[in-house]
Amino acid sequence: MTNTANHIGIPVDLKGLTPQEIERFCAEELGQKAGQGTRVAVWLFRKTVEDIDSMEDLGKSFRKLLKECCTISSLTVEQQTTSEDGTIKLLYGLEDGNAVEGVLIPGSGRLTLCISSQVGCASGCGFCRTGEGGFIRNLTTAEMVNQFFSARKHGGGKQISNIVLMGTGEPLNNYENVKSFVEIAANRFGLGFSGKKITLSTCGLAPMIEKMAEEMDVSLAVSLSATTDNVRDRIMPINKAYPIARLMQALRYYCDRTGRSVTIEYVLFKDINDSDEDAERLMELLKGLPCMVNVLTFNPFPDAAFERPDEERTYAFRNMLLNNGFVAVVRDSRGKDIHAACGQLRAASTPANGS
Ligand code: SF4
Repeated sequence: MTNTANHIGIPVDLKGLTPQEIERFCAEELGQKAGQGTRVAVWLFRKTVEDIDSMEDLGKSFRKLLKECCTISSLTVEQQTTSEDGTIKLLYGLEDGNAVEGVLIPGSGRLTLCISSQVGCASGCGFCRTGEGGFIRNLTTAEMVNQFFSARKHGGGKQISNIVLMGTGEPLNNYENVKSFVEIAANRFGLGFSGKKITLSTCGLAPMIEKMAEEMDVSLAVSLSATTDNVRDRIMPINKAYPIARLMQALRYYCDRTGRSVTIEYVLFKDINDSDEDAERLMELLKGLPCMVNVLTFNPFPDAAFERPDEERTYAFRNMLLNNGFVAVVRDSRGKDIHAACGQLRAASTPANGS
């Protein structure tokens, strides 16, 4: 249970509990019959009813008890900016005065929500400004759930169809809270998403990828962005802990264990990792791995140590992969005019997950 309390202690935030935890809490702490807690979860997550009094089919005394023992937290959107291409950047204010960003990305027949998992980030990827400020704190499960609740009111009436954990932070460094969030998102008494529609994007924490393969119903995207350890050490410091060979081992384990493919994010940096030789090495690394490759181009920011390759080089790189039987797509920048990209998205991408 991500936040525990009984009716004598601090009120429990229902948005921080999975449907199973709400069921258990209602049975064990509030003495309710089996199934009552699940009804609460359905009201809250499926019907997005945030007022206990409006959960009409619950008994009056049960509702009274819930109000005494529980809270339902919320998150305010402090700022909304809409890009020319329809991408919406949201700035959520947190209770402690911090703020995190979210992005709503419309596509044909879908609306993808990019969720943040941490305030700041310790990973220090060279293409991401979030890493520059360092790590501040993990987000709670409820804060991630609340990003969904807040964002859905800003989608112009369109339902959120996909979730990507690709915002600020490294989700696998906030493992337990992210796992609970995924359980809520993927549960039929929770937000009701298929695991295929939820993508967790990581910079490559190999042991945690193996753990999530066993414990989470979620699709996986990984920022690889280099084909030699020398270059990857420079672009992504995580490589010093988990070099490319170790990462590839974890990705193969994920695919074997889940039967799913993995999305490889490859951010091109001019004259660093964009050569034909890099494309050759990339194909060698990915040989036999069920995967698709998103080819992204670096979005330079002031004082960035890298440059963006031109379009010709970008497509030449992509074409080498395509011509050798790989699934590879060049992803366009979304919301560039409003700096909507956060976390992994800073490299410029549309979501990896299929519609
Ligand atoms: S890309 Fe993601 S993991 Fe890397 S520094 Fe940015 S937020 Fe952290």
